[in-house]
Amino acid sequence: MIRLQNINKIYRTSDIETKALNDINIHIAKGEFISIMGPSGCGKSTLLNTLGMLDSPSSGEYFFDDIPIHGLSERQLAQQRKGKVGFIFQSFNLIDELSVADNVELPLLYQKIGVKERKMRVTEVLEQLNIGHRASHMPQQLSGGQQQRVAIARALSTSPDVIMADEPTGNLDSKNGDEVMTMLSELNKIGTTIMMVTHSPYHAEYADRIIQLFDGQVVSQNKAKVDVSHA
Ligand code: ADP
Ligand code: ADP
Repeated sequence: MIRLQNINKIYRTSDIETKALNDINIHIAKGEFISIMGPSGCGKSTLLNTLGMLDSPSSGEYFFDDIPIHGLSERQLAQQRKGKVGFIFQSFNLIDELSVADNVELPLLYQKIGVKERKMRVTEVLEQLNIGHRASHMPQQLSGGQQQRVAIARALSTSPDVIMADEPTGNLDSKNGDEVMTMLSELNKIGTTIMMVTHSPYHAEYADRIIQLFDGQVVSQNKAKVDVSHA
């Protein structure tokens, strides 16, 4: 589904150059659940933003379902993202002035989906994430865990192939964090490909594979859960 070949990303500011990604080679199969780990500044967000087609690599090749993504303009990237990628963030990024239902409806509005289908889809995903009873609430009236569930519902509203999650449990206590991870696991079981940046070794283990970055390079891509059954 996803192939990164010799991907480099260089940030240039007035007097310094930072090589955020250094010769990255990764293949990701449909239905995989991947964790991305590594110390602060090693390139995790840059990798996730590249995978999520928010950002273009400086060099190298990126294929999504055999479509070349490298070298696309901002506008072409936005076109490719549509219906393919959903995003979840550490700080939820909900719009405080909009109700839960309106937040979840927003991506569908952007895609110019008709009103009837929009309402149906919103009800469906809110139910799926057990948050339907909060549809008319404002984000600030919800707990952090509930807000992240709304954010997941919003990401799912357009039925994307891949969910990109940047430290989705980073602002949650352990109970709510575990709940969000259980939810992501369940989504993965029904076929959604998930890529997640996390600082939590425990949450990283929910994935099939852990990609470990250091100084912009992949230093390991081990299968997770291998030893668990023998422990
Ligand atoms: P991580 O997510 O692992 O903390 P990042 O991908 O955010 O790492 O950053 C990787 C490196 O690239 C860091 O050295 C960071 O300072 C640098 N960097 C990230 N984004 C930018 C940017 N927009 N402009 C310049 N440097 C950046
Ligand atoms: P995290 O470590 O949680 O991934 P950061 O605090 O490193 O996030 O970065 C937050 C945002 O700031 C990212 O979008 C990243 O691209 C940008 N950023 C990081 N480092 C730099 C930098 N040196 N110059 C400009 N932007 C940066």
